[in-house]
Amino acid sequence: ESLVPANFIRHIIAEDKANNKNDGKVATRFPPEPNGYLHIGHAKSICLNFTLAEENNGTCNLRFDDTNPEKESVEYMESIERDVAWLGFKWVGKYHASDYFETLYDYAVQLIKQGDAYVDGSTAEQMRLDRGTLTEPGKESPDRSRSIEENLDLFQRMRAGEFADGQYVLRAKIDMASPNINMRDPVIYRIRRAHHHRTGDAWCIYPMYDYTHCLSDMLEGITHSICTLEFEDHRPLYDWVLDTLKTPCHPQQIEFARLQLEYTIVSKRKLLQLVTEKHVSGWDDPRMPTISGLRRAGVTPEAIRDFCERIGVTKKNSWIEMSFLETCIRDDLNERALRAMAVLRPLRVIITNWEDGKTETYQIANHPQKPEMGTRAVPFGKVLLIEQDDFMENPPKDFKRLVPGGEVRLRGSYVIKCEEVIKDDAGNVIELRCTYDPATLGKNPEGRKVKGVIHWVSEQHALPAEIRLYDRLFSHPNPDTLDNFLDGINPDSLEVVTSARVEASLTDASPDVRYQFERTGYFCADSVDSKPGKLVFNRTVTLRDSWAK
Ligand code: ATP
Ligand code: MG
Ligand code: MG
Repeated sequence: ESLVPANFIRHIIAEDKANNKNDGKVATRFPPEPNGYLHIGHAKSICLNFTLAEENNGTCNLRFDDTNPEKESVEYMESIERDVAWLGFKWVGKYHASDYFETLYDYAVQLIKQGDAYVDGSTAEQMRLDRGTLTEPGKESPDRSRSIEENLDLFQRMRAGEFADGQYVLRAKIDMASPNINMRDPVIYRIRRAHHHRTGDAWCIYPMYDYTHCLSDMLEGITHSICTLEFEDHRPLYDWVLDTLKTPCHPQQIEFARLQLEYTIVSKRKLLQLVTEKHVSGWDDPRMPTISGLRRAGVTPEAIRDFCERIGVTKKNSWIEMSFLETCIRDDLNERALRAMAVLRPLRVIITNWEDGKTETYQIANHPQKPEMGTRAVPFGKVLLIEQDDFMENPPKDFKRLVPGGEVRLRGSYVIKCEEVIKDDAGNVIELRCTYDPATLGKNPEGRKVKGVIHWVSEQHALPAEIRLYDRLFSHPNPDTLDNFLDGINPDSLEVVTSARVEASLTDASPDVRYQFERTGYFCADSVDSKPGKLVFNRTVTLRDSWAK
């Protein structure tokens, strides 16, 4: 437990437990709005809420904050459940704000009866003007002094559908002169004839977020309601609703800094725009900062959780470098990825002193430092494929790979020597004739040093594969600061290589298995498009940071 880094929320909870606040219980919740897929920013909130509950023998609920029917859907709800579960967390209760619509209505009636809420017929525009500014108090609506009886009658008729959308709202009666604009008689109910994915057409009035959230927390017995810093100025309203209704319990709202990640965006609205305008193939495009995109790219839940733990939790907004997320992904994959060989742009190599039709098979370790991860069989034959890049006819001085007359080691196999270069009519190198040194299998050659090691596959045994080289979706470090964030898109964020040949052991590569293609990067089979006989691999991340400034 001492390995867990401290953060200010952990301190607050430890103190509350020490004081036996809430009888020492800890209950948190993760409250997404089902209006899009979850992104890496949500992962920070998920990890925080679920981990705090776990550490304190408490509970964490999943609650759908579904009060905006126009933007929400069952598809989004299902994706959220899938993503939270995939991250490895188990919610104790699964709730929806819409489960509470009747109760929330009753509480609104109570507010009206207490003289703490009123029905306002002002236009939206008038209300906006009357709200005032930071330096100027707001103006009270003439409807503010409406009688309780009349308010009760109008609110009931709002629910009954007697009025047009926008004709009336219910407002909390707080203080139009409050220095906090959120306290200037905020709207708590509006009329919206919108079909709700759970309650259908049962309601034509919907409660507002600030009113709904605190009551939902209270109804679930949440002790610590953790949210992002933008809600700091909403906390007085959160507390006002619960205090004014004298609810049986009063959760404590605690704010922390949201995740801001360079070279990407974490806003569902903008992610939705990327999807609808087809800048990406969908919410789960491997370039998306969504949980489903990261999963499809080959990132593991462990890497995401490690990232969330390592960035910590503070009350100060800051930017996290994309390279830090990539480092967490590499650290994780370096441990778990099976090593394999894949040749992206093949060049044929004929081993002239190898017997025709002969195959040798080597058992090569799946992980150089972890014998417990086993070995796989890698066949070697007369015709091999190496990367075009690993041969140069006129190399610079420091080139350590294959050159005319030079030697190189084939990973896990022999040292070969390039004896002859075959070209087509246009002068392109199309084939190399090489000899192998039979004395060099797993041994250094006698009397000379061979420095370079390259990867290879046997042409006869290798499998064709499509390889998708994904890179960062944005080439601008802060696309959010541009007038149009789309201008920050990286035009080279995907290169599809169709010429690749991969070693035979990958024949039924499952998307759940991560690979390091030797010298090339980390990959996994694409969960949507890869099939036996038609392999497709996604690059999760390169071996080294290619974006370092
Ligand atoms: P977006 O702006 O992307 O729509 P949101 O806050 O409106 O995000 P919600 O579905 O309401 O999305 O978020 C659910 C929870 O996740 C909230 O408690 C919210 O504070 C948290 N959350 C959202 N984005 C981030 C982020 N970037 N960093 C940390 N927590 C976040
Ligand atoms: Mg929200
Ligand atoms: Mg939002």
